[in-house]
Amino acid sequence: MTGSDGDGATAGPDADPFSVLGNETRLRIVDALYEQTVAADSRDGCSYSRLKGAAGVRDNGNFNYHLDVLRDRFVEKADEGYRLSFAGFEIAKSLRAGAWQGHEPREPVEIEASSPLVDGRPLYASYEESLVRVHAADEEPVFQIAVRPSGAAYRDLHDLADVMSAQLVTAVERAQRGVCPYCHALPERSVERSPGEEPRHRFVADCPECGPLFEVPVGAAVARHPAVVSFYWARGVDVRKRRLWNLDVYGGHAVEKHGERTRLRIDRDRAALTLVLDEDGQVVDSTVEDVETAQRRQ
Ligand SMILES: [Zn+2]
Repeated sequence: MTGSDGDGATAGPDADPFSVLGNETRLRIVDALYEQTVAADSRDGCSYSRLKGAAGVRDNGNFNYHLDVLRDRFVEKADEGYRLSFAGFEIAKSLRAGAWQGHEPREPVEIEASSPLVDGRPLYASYEESLVRVHAADEEPVFQIAVRPSGAAYRDLHDLADVMSAQLVTAVERAQRGVCPYCHALPERSVERSPGEEPRHRFVADCPECGPLFEVPVGAAVARHPAVVSFYWARGVDVRKRRLWNLDVYGGHAVEKHGERTRLRIDRDRAALTLVLDEDGQVVDSTVEDVETAQRRQ
C-alpha cells in the first residue's frame, strides 16, 4: 500500500466505524463527496480525480488507501466514480449539522409566568449539554429534548423553547405512529404513573435499538389528537400554535388511571372533553359533554 500513512484501520463492512472515521483525511473525503453529491444533485457519483482534488489529497497512494478504508460501508462505487452510501450520507450530514460541537450553558429564563404543569408556578427554559429543559425553579425538568448547538447558536431561550416544543410534538407523533425518530424501529410506548406526593402520569417511549426516547406528561401524548384539536378549535383556540406545555390538560385532578386505561379530562368554557387512553397511550375513546355531567360521571 504505497504512500499510505498506515494507521491500521481496515476496510470492509465489519470494520470498526470509529477507527474508520477517526482520521482527518477520511472525514475530508466524506465531506467532499457530500459537497459534490449535493452540488451536482446526482447519485451518479463523483469522479476519482474530482474527489481527490476536492478532498485536498495530492498523493495517489495515500488517497487510494483512505478511499479503500471507507469502502464499502461509507463510500460506494457509482457509474461515474464514487458516491456516499446511506451510512456515509448520515455521517456527512451529522458532521455538517455540528452534532459533536460543544457550547456554553445558558442560564434559565422564565418562559411562562404561571403554568398548571408546576402547580401555577413560573416555568423556565434552560440549555445545557445540548438539552433544552423546561422546568420550575431548581426542579427536575418536566420536558427535555436535545437541540443541536448549530441550531441553538442564533436563538435565544424563548425561541429555543419553541424549537423544543416542535421537536417534542414530532417525536411524540412519530412514537404514536410506531416509528423511532432515530433508527425507525418500533418503539415501546406506555403510560406510567410516577411516584410522589402528587403522582404524575407520564407517556414514555423506549426504542429497543436506541434506548429511552422521551418521557413527557401524559397530556402531551394527546396534544395533537383530532379530538383535542377540534375541541379547542370549536372554542376559538388553534392548539397547534400553542407550545406543548401551554394546554389545560396537565392539571393533576384531570388525570386518572384505571387499570390499563388512563382517563384525561380537559375543561374549557363549561365544556369537558374526556379522553380514554390504552396502555400504549393511544386514544381509544373521546366524549364532549358539559362539565357538570362529566363531574357526576367521575
Ligand atoms: Zn431507535
